[in-house]
Amino acid sequence: MKAVGLKHTEANRTRLTPDERKLVAAAKKARLRAHAHQSQFKVGAAARYGNEIVLGCNVESDVYGLTNCAERTAVFAAHANGLARKGLSMIAVVADTPEPVVLCGACRQVLFEQGGPDLRVIMCNTRGNVRVATLAELLPGGFRLETMPKRRAAAAAKPRKATKREPPHAP
Ligand SMILES: [Zn+2]
Repeated sequence: MKAVGLKHTEANRTRLTPDERKLVAAAKKARLRAHAHQSQFKVGAAARYGNEIVLGCNVESDVYGLTNCAERTAVFAAHANGLARKGLSMIAVVADTPEPVVLCGACRQVLFEQGGPDLRVIMCNTRGNVRVATLAELLPGGFRLETMPKRRAAAAAKPRKATKREPPHAP
């Protein structure tokens, strides 16, 4: 897992703030709860919403494509527990990888929508190596529905009207 195109990275955790170190420790704890019976690749995430930390782990399915990543599990849990309104400000992700774990494209997109381009992403491995990046660095030009042309966005948001139909047995 080679980091390509990342700038402003940090080599180790000694440069993390106490809050960031706390988030990494929480992500490590979450990793132990991963349901990774298929791959044995356990990932933990910890997302900060205000003063709250929401944990996530990867949850695999026997139908492999239904697996959910740790990062998105944390985001979805924040919504389910009513914490998303506080705003996602930072997320830490941990896995047992040679280099700090990298995020998949799906998670980058979801995090872009939830935390914006300035979201601080702390990528770690279990050996203590850390890389920090913003979401803008991980996903330049991320997609947002609001960037669609106004009419199309309005049409997409508007519920469809029921179409008038002839009675099925018109005389
Ligand atoms: Zn992912």
